[in-house]
Amino acid sequence: MLAYKDRSKEELLELKSQLEQEFQKVKAQGLQLDMSRGKPSAAQLDLAMGMMDVLTSESDLKCEEGVDCRNYGVLDGIREAKQLLADMTEVPKDNIVIFGNSSLNIMYDTIARSMTHGVMGSTPWAKLDKVKFLCPVPGYDRHFAITEHFGIEMINVPMTMDGPDMDIVEKLVSEDDAIKGIWCVPKYSNPQGITYSDETVHRFAKLKPAAKDFRIYWDNAYGIHHLYEDKQDYLIEILMECKKEGNPDMVYKFCSTSKVSFPGSGVAAIAASDANLVAIRKQMQIQTIGHDKLNQLRHARFYKDIHGMVEHMKLHADILRPKFETVLTILERELEGLEIGSWLRPRGGYFISFDAMDGCAKAIVAKASEAGLVMTPAGATFPYGKDPKDSNIRIAPSYPTPEELAKACEIFVLSVKLVSIDKILESKS
Ligand code: PMP
Repeated sequence: MLAYKDRSKEELLELKSQLEQEFQKVKAQGLQLDMSRGKPSAAQLDLAMGMMDVLTSESDLKCEEGVDCRNYGVLDGIREAKQLLADMTEVPKDNIVIFGNSSLNIMYDTIARSMTHGVMGSTPWAKLDKVKFLCPVPGYDRHFAITEHFGIEMINVPMTMDGPDMDIVEKLVSEDDAIKGIWCVPKYSNPQGITYSDETVHRFAKLKPAAKDFRIYWDNAYGIHHLYEDKQDYLIEILMECKKEGNPDMVYKFCSTSKVSFPGSGVAAIAASDANLVAIRKQMQIQTIGHDKLNQLRHARFYKDIHGMVEHMKLHADILRPKFETVLTILERELEGLEIGSWLRPRGGYFISFDAMDGCAKAIVAKASEAGLVMTPAGATFPYGKDPKDSNIRIAPSYPTPEELAKACEIFVLSVKLVSIDKILESKS
């Protein structure tokens, strides 16, 4: 297919009027479609319904410690849940602390604690003139929202196919002691689905930060969320790697079962060095007498062990894979060769990241919404909601049905084509 930029003005105008007619036809259908939310579909949630039956009024509700899970006790997670989440995130059981239902909540608490009380005895960030965070972009909007909320200055670091640009990360963290952290989604990243390479993880573990309270915020949200059994990404385990490099305290690792069992009703945990966990538990015992142990027990008994969880994730993949394939097939069929957009083919996670021609993302999202398709707002994948190139759009294929998804993609590619033609015509005039 001839790239749009190589077509004449007349050809483009003719194509535009054809596409505009197609667009008006879909618009007239009055559709209401949504590719904005990284939520599992109802069919995926159904997979874990058995969890509702593992605890009944007849069940023995004592956990391995012998504590009655209906009552107070066991601050940092029951042993069987710790084992399950430790295996899920590939760390020793003793390096994990279970919290409530949300890993994002733990991340927020971790930043809040650093602001008010500092990190393992260092000056509370709130008392410093300036606190900065590195933000690999495109990235997860809710990470950026937390740091923005606390007035932390965010610095964009471009993503490469191997993870964040480590030349930039190494330089900045070694020079500036106001940089206290970096947000990372190291496996099947949100939104690109990129997994950090071995070299990237090694370079992270070897960082020499100017700030001794610098921490890597390693959000392993998609650690076991593969789409294919035969094509899986592999990520080096960062906690062990940091320990080997003599930097045991430099990383906090976060995980949850939100997209394994039930988002909002799962179990979340932090994994870190012994020294970090001492500081975390110290605050935790003020904050709560304990989290929901019945939910922890329910998860441990339902999955039994990590093998049960891995099998469960294959069922998720069976539902998600065709949806990803639908989107990718339509993008390839409709856009390949036109040079008006590029995208990646992830092997796991929840998103497909689309890069439009510079200056087109906002207009594409607006155009799609005219025909009833809701996309993640353009810019959301960048700190402060500002994509300097106005190019990145996050596609979330998990929630719609396959039929809805095909329709939604049709609207999306039409919007991409129409906005790109206008952009090219503008440059030709
Ligand atoms: N991290 C990432 C990268 C996510 O995409 C999400 C949401 N899907 C979360 C964290 C939120 O996880 P939780 O439900 O455990 O708060």
